[in-house]
Amino acid sequence: MVKVMAVNAGSSSLKFQLINMPSEEVITSGLVERIGQEVGNFVIKVNGEKIQTQTPIPDHQVAVDLLLNALVDHHIVESLEEIDAVGHRVVHGGEDFDDSVVVDEEAVKKVADLAELAPLHNPANIIGYKAFKEALPDHVGHVFVFDTAFHQTLDKERYLYPLPLEYYTDLKVRKYGAHGTSHKYVSQQAIEMLGNPKESRIIVCHLGNGASVTAVKGGESVDTSMGLTPLEGLIMGTRSGDLDPAIIEFIANKENKTASEVLNILNKESGVYGLSGVSSDFRDVKAARAEGNKVAAAALDAYAYRVAKYIGAYTAAMNGVDAIAFTAGLGENDDITRKAICEYLGYLGTELDEVKNDVHGETAIISTDDSKVTLLCVPTNEELMIARDTVALVK
Ligand code: ADP
Repeated sequence: MVKVMAVNAGSSSLKFQLINMPSEEVITSGLVERIGQEVGNFVIKVNGEKIQTQTPIPDHQVAVDLLLNALVDHHIVESLEEIDAVGHRVVHGGEDFDDSVVVDEEAVKKVADLAELAPLHNPANIIGYKAFKEALPDHVGHVFVFDTAFHQTLDKERYLYPLPLEYYTDLKVRKYGAHGTSHKYVSQQAIEMLGNPKESRIIVCHLGNGASVTAVKGGESVDTSMGLTPLEGLIMGTRSGDLDPAIIEFIANKENKTASEVLNILNKESGVYGLSGVSSDFRDVKAARAEGNKVAAAALDAYAYRVAKYIGAYTAAMNGVDAIAFTAGLGENDDITRKAICEYLGYLGTELDEVKNDVHGETAIISTDDSKVTLLCVPTNEELMIARDTVALVK
């Protein structure tokens, strides 16, 4: 039995799960947030109960020390020697990483260089790694697990944008995708639920605040909706997803804004939030619709339509589809949105079972026995995927 810490470090937060492998039992989980602000917040689960501490947490090193000390203080581990390995989520692996890797100096340098493609995330991921490296004994193995790696199997004609080729060759402008760890985990679950067929065509809809759809053929990602950055694809909580790129200059000229300012609007003020004017949280937008807010209803209709459009495209990409899996915040919990999406899919012979669809945060088949395509609700588990990859590599 080994204990693996799965870490997701952001610029001001750090989420963690300590997992026993191979039993996959979660020993504890929690998060540190508001790192660098006046008062930080630390939450850790002890015997199923959340213990919260508010204290200044000036940097990631302090955050990591706080969390490791808490593990010992609460007797979750008797000593830090018990932690065998740490798996670190890294947002951007560019073309350098098509799988998880054991961390060495070269990997750290490459991840740092890739910050150009993920300026908010990759530097934070490295800071998190360094803090754990510093705090834990030298023999502890560290692994980087990349959000982009799963999509490195895309064919060139699918990842290239139709731009002058030198933007790819010189600047590496291409589709990289995101949410790879989630898409990999959920597609593996789906394939298992189908009985491990030799050939499988799965469409995974990761519908959280950020959202993406991936076509997975024979276990490999063959297309995905996010692009160079997570702005492409679906309508999201605050992101526009696909639109005519000429809109950027049009708004910039009309409102005397820079391209960066307009992009900021596309990333942070658009999507369901921008369309509804209500909130980026789908629960609020749904509540507004229930009270008769027509604009909120239209925003949610547009959201479901866009997902259905991608499902159609990816069915074509794989010449058919065997299962469609819904995951993440909305995908796992929101039966109404799942139903709204499935209403577009009758032409595929899909039949949603309305009783089975009344499922929230649990793995389940939600289609009828006669449905030509199996519809699934599959809670994602990125931490478990990180732990699995980590154990496989440090053994
Ligand atoms: P992220 O990791 O991208 O922040 P999550 O996967 O946690 O996102 O999803 C968060 C989103 O899921 C929120 O917008 C929230 O409103 C939505 N969500 C969670 N539960 C429900 C629900 N029962 N109905 C509708 N939306 C939900």
